[in-house]
Amino acid sequence: MINNNKNEKKNFRALIEEDEIGRVEDRLNIIDVFLEDDRHVTLQDLMEILRDRGYDYDPEFVRQCMNRWVEHGFAQKKTFEGQPPRYEHRHLGRHHDHMICTKCGKIIEFHNEEIEHLQVRIARQHGFHMLQHKMEIYGICADCLALRQPLMPLVMAKPGERVEIKDMMGGRSAMGRLASMGLRKGDVLEVISNNAQGRLIVGHGTTRLALGRGVAEKITVSLVPL
Ligand SMILES: [Zn+2]
Ligand SMILES: [Zn+2]
Ligand SMILES: [Zn+2]
Repeated sequence: MINNNKNEKKNFRALIEEDEIGRVEDRLNIIDVFLEDDRHVTLQDLMEILRDRGYDYDPEFVRQCMNRWVEHGFAQKKTFEGQPPRYEHRHLGRHHDHMICTKCGKIIEFHNEEIEHLQVRIARQHGFHMLQHKMEIYGICADCLALRQPLMPLVMAKPGERVEIKDMMGGRSAMGRLASMGLRKGDVLEVISNNAQGRLIVGHGTTRLALGRGVAEKITVSLVPL
């Protein structure tokens, strides 16, 4: 990869010298920083790295330089939904697609031969000659998924668990009873006992409450991480 970068830089130097646009060394410094980083960088990311390296360039100059780099086919500019444009390396002859986490913005690269072939085949079935494509899968990444707390009825909570009340539903009398106990959405309960039959004992602030199973069925909660 290092050799590849070196070649790309040499190649780019020749092209910009030919273009006679000036500031060749400054442009190559920017490209150096970009090539060292294998992520999908925004203009702002790039500005930060450049500043860390002691380069104080005008963002507009950096943007122009990157766009020229893209124009010459060394990098690709990608705009994923809900995110600022990003630059990524473009290695000739190699292709990948992306998964984008809509929660944290993480970008995962993948390549799957089967999908690649399938796309060509489907295009061909439509009499379509495919030149290029981009596949972007949007969703929730594994890390964000692990953080997401599923909802459950309070009756499912285990002794020792702390849960937050997300919702309460039920008839007027049940709701009235819960309200008279002082239970509200957003309150945290500590489950003290919950065996398969009988009432649940929960801690609510400094008091302990006994809740019938039917009522506990109607209180929706999520686990509070420890
Ligand atoms: Zn692909
Ligand atoms: Zn995520
Ligand atoms: Zn990528």
